[in-house]
This record gives sequence, structure tokens and C-alpha cells, in this order.
Amino acid sequence: MTKQWFISDLHLAIERPHTLTLFEHFLSEFPDPGDRLFILGDLFDVWIGDDDDAELAKRVRTALRAASDRGVNLFIQRGNRDPVMGRRLMRECGAKLLGDCFVTAVAGQQTLLMHGDLLCTDDVEYQKARRRFRNPFFQWFMLRKPLQERRRIVAGYRRRSREVTALKPADIMDVNADTIVRYLDKYRVKQLIHGHTHRPARHEHRLPDGTVATRLVLPEWHEAHATVWMDDGKTLAPLRVDAA
Ligand code: MN
Repeated sequence: MTKQWFISDLHLAIERPHTLTLFEHFLSEFPDPGDRLFILGDLFDVWIGDDDDAELAKRVRTALRAASDRGVNLFIQRGNRDPVMGRRLMRECGAKLLGDCFVTAVAGQQTLLMHGDLLCTDDVEYQKARRRFRNPFFQWFMLRKPLQERRRIVAGYRRRSREVTALKPADIMDVNADTIVRYLDKYRVKQLIHGHTHRPARHEHRLPDGTVATRLVLPEWHEAHATVWMDDGKTLAPLRVDAA
């Protein structure tokens, strides 16, 4: 039986080696050949470009490549931390890069997959910054800087981002219910899976036609454990992954 796996928000960083080890363990032990693994953004705490030659980048490439080599089908969406993941990384990992909105059948139901940051429309300031980071000219301009300079820029950005996030009211950074209904309606689905908010839960949303849609929010990964969601073709259920 072919299975589908859903994960997001691993925020892999060299400062959190246990999460990286946990991810390597998950990749080698959980998905079987033929399975589909969906990584819905923020795989990295920060991705400075596909030419990154740092230890973390090498290990993640190697682990993903090993999974795809043994027949696991990899699908990756960009998150707000890794919007410059590109074709070269996907080629090296044997993965397929998905757009911001991707529809596929999950547990027998057409389902929209997203990172989730597009749903946080109350945070107007963030959405403005997002448009800048996603702008192809901005990305081209940043990616032609030397790796060392990109590392410096990103370190400063992460510091400022932590400060800004600490000052923002929590509800502004959560999803907007009207925006969710708009996306569900646009893609004509009654199931949505996303990450980003680090508020794992299953929610219900009443649609304009009176029917109810479900929304699964994936959890972030921790140092010693993670919860992944698995679709065996009939049901979508959580599964705990512990350090080896
Ligand atoms: Mn995110």
C-alpha cells in the first residue's frame, strides 16, 4: 500500500543537530519505496541559496538523495524561511518543487497543500515583506552575492525578525478565517493541510454552501521528537517519530 507523508517546519539548522539527526532517521526508516513525502515549507531555518556548501546543506542533500534513490517520491514547497530553494537543489535531491498551492488526493479527498504563510493576511507588514522576498529580481540580486555575504545578511535578518515577532500580537500572526474559506473555494476542496503557524490542530470551517471543510495544521519539529501525518489511502493519522 502506497502511503503519503506530510511534514513541515523542521527549521533545520546546524545549531540544532538533533533535529537534523531525527530528520535523517525519519527519511531512512519511515517512508517506503513508492511512498510520497510532502515537505510543506520551512525545511530549513534559513536557506541562502542552492550553491550553499555548508555542512547542513550537504547532509540534507545527501539524506534526501538517499530517500529518492530508494524510490521515495519527494515533493517540496517553499516556506517563508526557504523561499529561494530552487531547481538545482531539487535536482540534487531528486525532489519535485511544488508551487505555493498544490492539490492532490489525501485519504480519498481532494486536498489543498500550502506552507500556510499566505493565509496570515492580518499581518499586512509580513505580506509586504513576503512579496519582496518572492520577487524574482530581488532573489536574483541576492543570489549573486558571495555565500559569505549572504550568511551575514541572513544573520542580521534573523535577529531583526525575532525582535519584530516578539513585539507582534499573537493573533495577527495566525491565519485569517476568511482567507482560508477563499482558498478552499478557489481550489474547490474541502480539506487543507498546512504548517507555518506552529499551532498544530484540526479545525473545521463552514463554507458558504453550508458544507464543512477540515484544516490540518502540521506541527513544528523538535530536538528529540516530531509528529508526522500519514495517509494510508483511507485515513490521515499522526505518527510520532523519536530519536533513534
Ligand atoms: Mn513558516
